[in-house]
Amino acid sequence: LVWMAEEPLVPGRQYVVKLGTRSTPATFSTPEYRIDVNTLEHLDAERLEMNEIGVLGLKLDRPVPFDPYLENHDMGAFIVIDRITNGTVGAGMIRSASRAAGDVHWQNLEVDKAARASLTGQKPAVIWFTGLSGAGKSTVSNLVEKRLHSMGHHTFALDGDNVRHGLNADLGFSDEDRQENIRRVAEVAKLMDEAGLIVLVSFISPFRSERAFARSLLADGEFVEVFVDAGLEVAEARDVKGLYAKARRGELANFTGIDSPYESPEAPEVHLNTSGAVSEEDCAEQVVEYLRSVGILTR
Ligand code: ADP
Repeated sequence: LVWMAEEPLVPGRQYVVKLGTRSTPATFSTPEYRIDVNTLEHLDAERLEMNEIGVLGLKLDRPVPFDPYLENHDMGAFIVIDRITNGTVGAGMIRSASRAAGDVHWQNLEVDKAARASLTGQKPAVIWFTGLSGAGKSTVSNLVEKRLHSMGHHTFALDGDNVRHGLNADLGFSDEDRQENIRRVAEVAKLMDEAGLIVLVSFISPFRSERAFARSLLADGEFVEVFVDAGLEVAEARDVKGLYAKARRGELANFTGIDSPYESPEAPEVHLNTSGAVSEEDCAEQVVEYLRSVGILTR
């Protein structure tokens, strides 16, 4: 440490040490020695006077990440600030952690969901769009994600098609496989929620029990069920991917709405009428409004 203030360094007095981007209250021990700059001799010292250089112990109020100066100049150098005057009174290099501090490890600093969310400045949530094929889940989810993104929110969209090509490529459409499909998606959504993201999930997810399972993985208020409701007639008439026609011809078994049931949500957080009476943009706006009203969106 090189001391730069007229008033000497007093061991045990509280200063502020700025290391990297962090400022932390700190105290210094009595110097182990000070160095005679002309002879490089080690001399006894009770404190450090202006322009003196010494080696001494530094104790911070809380653990901070650092590297030894020899390994990393940025994370191994610090300045000392006087608490009263705010002036810089010293500058130093860290040689190593002392043995006494050796039991403080990175793991002791809890990086939890709240910590991650506070970096992104948002409340994590899972917005779960459910409804028949062709009802408009992907369309509305896309519009909502664009809006959230433009407001500066960190989002991620999981949808039936992208997940079935990868993570769930081994699953088919039997009741068991559908359930496993949703179970995996719900678990992935939960991990992303813990990462601090706003997750948009668009899956037909026809069974109440599987949606209830997804809800059960999340904290109260973090699961937003959006019923995308066009009615079977309209969804089938749209037949965006030609799947209803295939199912009607008997070429596609277990198709939701035709020969596999869709259990409508009983109490969704948001119920959208996507049969055409309300525009796609207005449906997206309804979702955004809801998210705002419950405090998930703060911007
Ligand atoms: P899903 O993801 O539910 O299978 P898609 O979003 O792929 O459905 O398809 C829904 C179709 O319905 C799109 O072609 C969309 O343009 C149309 N559509 C018409 N009105 C609406 C509305 N109000 N909300 C959502 N989609 C609508």
